[in-house]
Amino acid sequence: MISRRTLILPIDPNGPEPGGVRQAADVLRSGWLVAFPTETVYGLGANALDPDAVSRIFEAKGRPATNPLIVHVCDESMLSQVVADWPAVAAKLISRFWPGPLTLVLPKNPAIPDIVTGGGPTVAVRMPAHPVALALIRESRMPLAAPSANRSSELSPTTAEHVWKGLEGRIDLILDAGPTQSGIESTVLDLTTHPPTLLRPGPIGVAEIEARIGPIQRKRDTPRTGPLPSPGMLERHYAPNTPLELFADRAVLEERASALVASGQTVKKVLLGGIDHSASVMPTHHDQYAARLFAELHDLDSLWLNRILIEMPPETDDWLAVRDRLTRAATEGS
Ligand code: AMP
Ligand code: MG
Repeated sequence: MISRRTLILPIDPNGPEPGGVRQAADVLRSGWLVAFPTETVYGLGANALDPDAVSRIFEAKGRPATNPLIVHVCDESMLSQVVADWPAVAAKLISRFWPGPLTLVLPKNPAIPDIVTGGGPTVAVRMPAHPVALALIRESRMPLAAPSANRSSELSPTTAEHVWKGLEGRIDLILDAGPTQSGIESTVLDLTTHPPTLLRPGPIGVAEIEARIGPIQRKRDTPRTGPLPSPGMLERHYAPNTPLELFADRAVLEERASALVASGQTVKKVLLGGIDHSASVMPTHHDQYAARLFAELHDLDSLWLNRILIEMPPETDDWLAVRDRLTRAATEGS
């Protein structure tokens, strides 16, 4: 790929400056790529209606063409350009959870090019709850296809620096509004099955969704409770370059600690050559843990440890999304 000059533009997360938003919208309207903050992670956006622009996302990320993208909208009239139509169950979820980190899979509108959906008849769509993301979609007047702004299978970006580390020279502009809030990717729910299927656990939990629409089913490889799924069952994703191992038994640390990010107790310890390099604290609440997870992994990855050891979080439903990211990050091979 031809190296491009990547510009970082600081922007106010609460009241984005109109000049900056306009500049980013111009880049998008010209068919180029802009990384922008959402409430989950930074997204890499392109005009979802332009197949050439969308192909640049796949090229910049090194993403397999079979992996479909999430389309971001700013209101219901834009939603109607993206999906063929939406059932009552979608309307119920939208009125409760949008804008917010819940992605819905619905039958696609013919206006959405095949490259966005991996050739399939459905499209994943959400309305992000971030003033910068909403202002950008509104100003560019088009739905934005936006996967996470990282190289494929690597750690998701929760800061503009993370985006820069992975995509500098491959994209045109990064809007820097500081760290993102929830820190893990949106919950993905497929509404084309009956009952609906949870495809990816995320910040909106199963219990919250079921309280609104009744029982949903879970995709088979989503870790729930019990032992870790065997390697290979999960796609490797969200992974640091340093090998990552999950442990349940603290005795493992006596033997070969190199790094530890513990949950369930307020301690994080990084041991490098026997020297304690860090004593910062990991949150014990799952939402706050999730918000910090990728930033911690980016940091640990930059320490050149021979191994990262992370304690498996509790086997309860509220830790489902965190366990999903950790087990994928710990899966060997690609
Ligand atoms: P990312 O853009 O990196 O957050 O990843 C998007 C996620 O949404 C992936 O897990 C995709 O497999 C999923 N996704 C996107 N579109 C669809 C679709 N039409 N059907 C099922 N899953 C989808
Ligand atoms: Mg991603």
